[in-house]
Amino acid sequence: MTFSELGLSPKVLAAVETAGYSAPTPIQAQAIPHVLQRRDVMGIAQTGTGKTAAFTLPMISLSEKGRARARMPRTLILEPTRELAAQVEENFVKYSINHKLNVALLIGGVSFEDQMRKLDRGADVLIATPGRLLDLFERGRILMNGVEILVIDEADRMLDMGFIPDIERIVKMVPFTRQTLFFSATMPPIIEKLADQFLQNPVQVAVAAASSTSDTIDKKWVRAPRKDYEKRAVLRGLIDEADNLNNGIIFCNRKRDVATLYKSLSRHEYSVGSLHGDMDQSTRTKTLAGFRSGEIKLLVASDVAARGLDIPDVSHVFNYDVPTHAEDYVHRIGRCGRAGRDGWAFTMVTKADDKYVQAIAELTGDDIEWLDGGKPTTSTDEASEATPEKKKSSRKRTKKADKESETVAKDAVEGEERTTRRPRKKKPVEAEDAAVAAPVAADDTEAAPTQPDRPSDNDDMPIPKGWGDHVPAFLLQPTRKFG
Ligand code: AMP
Repeated sequence: MTFSELGLSPKVLAAVETAGYSAPTPIQAQAIPHVLQRRDVMGIAQTGTGKTAAFTLPMISLSEKGRARARMPRTLILEPTRELAAQVEENFVKYSINHKLNVALLIGGVSFEDQMRKLDRGADVLIATPGRLLDLFERGRILMNGVEILVIDEADRMLDMGFIPDIERIVKMVPFTRQTLFFSATMPPIIEKLADQFLQNPVQVAVAAASSTSDTIDKKWVRAPRKDYEKRAVLRGLIDEADNLNNGIIFCNRKRDVATLYKSLSRHEYSVGSLHGDMDQSTRTKTLAGFRSGEIKLLVASDVAARGLDIPDVSHVFNYDVPTHAEDYVHRIGRCGRAGRDGWAFTMVTKADDKYVQAIAELTGDDIEWLDGGKPTTSTDEASEATPEKKKSSRKRTKKADKESETVAKDAVEGEERTTRRPRKKKPVEAEDAAVAAPVAADDTEAAPTQPDRPSDNDDMPIPKGWGDHVPAFLLQPTRKFG
């Protein structure tokens, strides 16, 4: 199958050639002819399959007829995160080099002015996160009745993030006669029901189920301690001992852990960046660019922030926490070992996580081995030198011991080149890891404030009322009775 057999316009075909693609991916070959025939499409595909071009290429072809009017976009693409929206915009720019299309990116975390100016000029294509789109709509800056094509991308992630009520509102605002393209990596019954609601007589296209992992990835479970500072030491051991480590993503289940771990690794002088929903857009963009260019070797991230990011050539994935949804395991480790390359995925498992390990094994059908046969893992700083007595006593480690062993390990590796660590500064590591935890404000600004029911493990949890789970110490002091 070649691109020229799909019915795309000559200008789009020329752009595809410039992009250097020799043949369509399976999702492109299946979806593009139907999109060009103006059919609704329900696609089961995840990022990395060429899904973005599967909808953008035919959209550009179809947009060749007609022009946009001020504040009346002709096509609307909804994305769950700012990064995905920005990535789709990049794709649009790449594939529309031979067209004069106005693209507006409407995402949170950046100023309204620029976005409003673009809307006023007339946008052919709007790429938006639901919160910002509704915001601009409510300010009277967009009219939705000119939308001819609506794309709902990453529908399962939209559901996880609590965006479905927003999507329902948006769908009601666009004309009933629109063409709808709906993509999701997984199709649980609730997503199927939504697709039923939004699509008319859709064509279904699907590529490799999200339950399979690549054979080119070497996967391991790693038995990890529960205490955070011990767990961080184990992670550092895994990083230091890793073979062929070019760069890696470290996934945490909660964004407060992303922040804590990032600070800890920075303090230990690793080349590290972090990505979670609270960061402002320019920091997120800068971090991603640094990671892509190789300037940053390790990226600590939450699922929400990292989902679908197109970062080629990641050699390692470290799951600092076992994902509580088994499909997230597949997505996370799918960040490495792409396009037939080798990859390594380590998942740290505490005793409390065993049930999630079971669910992942059932979903993937993979027989994943335990590192060291599943023995409790200590930091390699220590394990590499520890005598049996030392190992035994290490299970009762104190923070102080942890600190000391780090110093020993740092001394032991002196002179070795560590690609993941920054050049050593003169100042020694002083502060205890436990002290690096800093409060992180909750929730992504894109999430509508009214969204209910986010899963408790979700990165973007609602802002707790009052003190949340934390009870200030003064409230715990016994009260004195008078009189
Ligand atoms: P996506 O699934 O849309 O995020 O695409 C994943 C990556 O595949 C992106 O880097 C695209 O530039 C690339 N890509 C998309 N279509 C093709 C193709 N037909 N041949 C080679 N690479 C492609």
